[in-house]
Amino acid sequence: MKDTYDSIVAGSGPSGAAAAKKLTDGGFKTLVLEKKKLPRYKMCSGIIFKKSQEITEQHFGTIPDSVYAKPNILKGVRFWRNDENYSDWPFSKNSEGAPNIWRSEYDYWLVSNSGADIMDCCEFKGFELEDDVIIVHYFDSLKNKMLRAKCRYLIGAEGCKSSIRAMLAPEFERNVKWFIAYQNYYEGQSRLDPDFYHGFLDQKYGEVYAWFSVKDGLQVFGTSVRKGGKIFPFLKEYQGMLEKVHGLSLKKPVRKVSCLGNNMCTTGNFYLGKGNILLAGEAAGFLNAFGEGISCALSSGLSAAEAICAGSNSGNDVISIYHELTKKERRQTSVSWKMGAKIAGRDLMPL
Ligand SMILES: Cc1cc2nc3c(=O)[nH]c(=O)nc-3n(C[C@H](O)[C@H](O)[C@H](O)COP(=O)(O)OP(=O)(O)OC[C@H]3O[C@@H](n4cnc5c(N)ncnc54)[C@H](O)[C@@H]3O)c2cc1C
Repeated sequence: MKDTYDSIVAGSGPSGAAAAKKLTDGGFKTLVLEKKKLPRYKMCSGIIFKKSQEITEQHFGTIPDSVYAKPNILKGVRFWRNDENYSDWPFSKNSEGAPNIWRSEYDYWLVSNSGADIMDCCEFKGFELEDDVIIVHYFDSLKNKMLRAKCRYLIGAEGCKSSIRAMLAPEFERNVKWFIAYQNYYEGQSRLDPDFYHGFLDQKYGEVYAWFSVKDGLQVFGTSVRKGGKIFPFLKEYQGMLEKVHGLSLKKPVRKVSCLGNNMCTTGNFYLGKGNILLAGEAAGFLNAFGEGISCALSSGLSAAEAICAGSNSGNDVISIYHELTKKERRQTSVSWKMGAKIAGRDLMPL
């Protein structure tokens, strides 16, 4: 097999890119497999919180202008308790605000600067263990072929619906509960302040919460409900309120998308991996309250790579090292959901 690597990362989101960067910096020959064509679309509000910005700048450099959407900087979150009353939560104390970016461009910039080999249109499909070698099976959709590559360490960074987690821990997987999020992008306008990200907490607009922001003039709004529930009645109610109360006027639809999320983050049920296979980002359960997940994706990706570097040098168990390295991040994730519940005045993940 000609494709032999020290480490393979499945998924090229922020967790995968951060892991790949740290591994290549540590001298590990690394391959990133990405199932979609890059740069790939990712459903996200694209707000780079302070911690994400700091990690990005430290490991990848200054975020390039090309990844920004307009308005470039958002001042904070405006939480609407009901249709008329809100409170503002600034993104930074010194009013610097937070970058408003397109995930397709930001994620692609990250992974392109990781130093790893990148293979897009290549979906991780499974693995076999042969002594201390992991044989990874992936499907190359351009060649329409199943292929294999070898490595010593594998990182699952494929997002919340991680196939590696499902393979390693089917029993754990059965107990995970899911929500569905739906997001619209429309040409149009509204009276909502475009310099804020808006969160609508009234549960008649969504069982988790509903949101609104502006990106390059597009009106971006969405909501979320438990999987199996009906999302469109909530969306209709929400859109109707935005039109009536905030003057939302929609012209041409540009994109309508949905994705899944789960309750691993709120229940503190992280799954970090097994043997020399580690999970990072949402695959491991890292997601903060109100769906902020880039900071913990970056941080857990770096920790997974650091654990591999340390374990490979010392011969110690990489999962134990990874557990230790992510202690603070896991605690912070749990605390963020408690704080989120305080702000919302209710359970934010009623699954
Ligand atoms: C509506 C919404 C808004 C959000 N807004 C924000 C925000 O403003 N700020 C913020 O910080 N967070 C936000 N988040 C959360 C954030 O998007 C995620 O937490 C973050 O992307 C997680 O990063 P990740 O690297 O773990 O996974 P992802 O970014 O999901 O990346 C996983 C990658 O793996 C690839 N993949 C999947 N399966 C395979 C496979 N089998 N083989 C190869 N590749 C595979 C996927 O195509 C994808 O590219 C939002 C989330 C949602 C749903």
